[in-house]
Amino acid sequence: MLPRRVLGIHGFSKRCLSTRATQILSALDIPTKGEIPGVYDGRWKGSGDIFESKCPSTGEVLARVQSATPRELEESIRASREAFKVFRTVPAPQRGEILRQIREAIAKYRKELGALVSLEMGKIRTEGEGEVQEFVDICDYAVGLSRMMNGRVVSSERLGHSILEVPNPLGVLAVLSAFNFPVAVYGWNLALSLAAGNATLWKPSPSTPLCSIAITKLVSDVLTRNGIPGAVAGLVIGGKHVGEAVVQSTDVDMVSFTGSENTGRQVAKVVQGRFGKVLLELGGNNASIVMPDADLSMALPSVFFGSIGTAGQRCTSTRRLYLHKSIADTFLERLQGMYAKLQPGDPLVSSTLLGPLHTQQAVALYENAIADLRSGGAELLCGGSRYVGGNSPLADHLLGGNFVQPAITIPRSSSPHEADLWKKEVFAPILNVAIFDELEQAIEWNNAVPQGLSSSLWTRDIRNVGRWIGPEGSDTGIVNVNVGTSGAEIGAAFGGNKSTGWGRESGGDAWKQYVRWSACTINFSDAAPLAQGVDFSTTN
Ligand code: NAD
Repeated sequence: MLPRRVLGIHGFSKRCLSTRATQILSALDIPTKGEIPGVYDGRWKGSGDIFESKCPSTGEVLARVQSATPRELEESIRASREAFKVFRTVPAPQRGEILRQIREAIAKYRKELGALVSLEMGKIRTEGEGEVQEFVDICDYAVGLSRMMNGRVVSSERLGHSILEVPNPLGVLAVLSAFNFPVAVYGWNLALSLAAGNATLWKPSPSTPLCSIAITKLVSDVLTRNGIPGAVAGLVIGGKHVGEAVVQSTDVDMVSFTGSENTGRQVAKVVQGRFGKVLLELGGNNASIVMPDADLSMALPSVFFGSIGTAGQRCTSTRRLYLHKSIADTFLERLQGMYAKLQPGDPLVSSTLLGPLHTQQAVALYENAIADLRSGGAELLCGGSRYVGGNSPLADHLLGGNFVQPAITIPRSSSPHEADLWKKEVFAPILNVAIFDELEQAIEWNNAVPQGLSSSLWTRDIRNVGRWIGPEGSDTGIVNVNVGTSGAEIGAAFGGNKSTGWGRESGGDAWKQYVRWSACTINFSDAAPLAQGVDFSTTN
């Protein structure tokens, strides 16, 4: 028998758990010794490759997690299908009651889960807790939804006929999620999927397995208490190969994928190739536009949060800043002042605003992007290197972390038509700035990139607002006014256009994708006429 591989996403390391990590894991009942099973289909298991979870702030190995073998994945998918057969018959309001209990369980551990997100993903604590709050919020929403997932009655052109549009449970939903929102994205999907009566199988990012194990434990406890099969909310930890196998499986009715454009493109082709349903939430390349009449005391902190929050690793992070020429100098001077005061630190400490990048690979991407900007003649106003060595403001225990200095740059060319750098999402705190004369020009730049997730306009002029949100305005899925690009609420459908994938999750009408729709024509008359008056009568 071949020995199992240890796949340190971040390299091989020996485990020796700090008090800092021990307290957070113990509070959530996650073992602090030995290998942890990363597959759940009603029972915990995992005999595939071992994945190391590594703290981005310190470099410490937090856990070694057992992933799914191909056979275990098959078993999990089968268990999900069986669980679906049970769950689809549970009346929707009862499913809502189960969701209410899940909401309570997650809310009870809001602080602990938030700390775990911070520890394992690297975002600062308040953002970690905010992410857990999103899970709670979407559960609230879905509890209500469970009594409102209504179809409708459509008038029939035929006498004594009625047409019903009926939503039924869809089947098995696979959720493939990214590292940067290791809790909320699953929450958005799970809540709607449970309300809809589906079984959900989660394949999270292999670099944040502990968040998914903690959440799955809380959810499975609720399911068990209610006599519902655990595989209604299954989990398979694994890397690319497990993801590919999930996507290929014809036993998976719908794939909800959150991740990079490159992976999303592959996933979309495979799922559409087998005529499955696919929902894509891919990369963002989001712009803020600041007009001369903007209230800078509001715009500045929002742009600051948009570009620095989660160390630039939100899909909605502000990556492009378009400043009107009349306020550009003032804005940049004040923004640079805010950047200058920023100190990196332990994301678990409440005063920290800048945490680490998630991995060493992300640091390399950041460094490559900075090198490209420099060689392309960009002016670097601040930042541009990692925090290392003796002059680093980092405490000793953070010297093994992935900390980089947020950068503001002015590329030589302002137009995405002339410089490719504007067209790519670099998942790091790099803010590229350009200066414009007229709003039309800024909107043109805003729309001239492949991605279409979020955008924001800062103005007090209602005419600008009308232009911005209208047919000649921003083409992104999220179009804000006097609100930054980052930080959406759950009530509206969330998602982006163009190469962001056109997917919509969370609120609004997003739930309608998680059900199987049937148009049912019911004839309660004594005749059987054809539609459109077609006459197919026979003589006998
Ligand atoms: P990624 O594409 O590397 O990975 C996403 C998921 O896909 C992971 O679970 C990964 O294991 C899996 N995977 C990798 N290769 C696969 C394959 N061939 N088939 C099936 N699954 C595969 O993304 P990431 O680096 O974890 O996340 C960052 C990206 O996610 C950024 O581009 C960000 O903008 C995007 N994102 C988008 C949203 C949104 O709502 N639009 C939200 C969060 C993150």
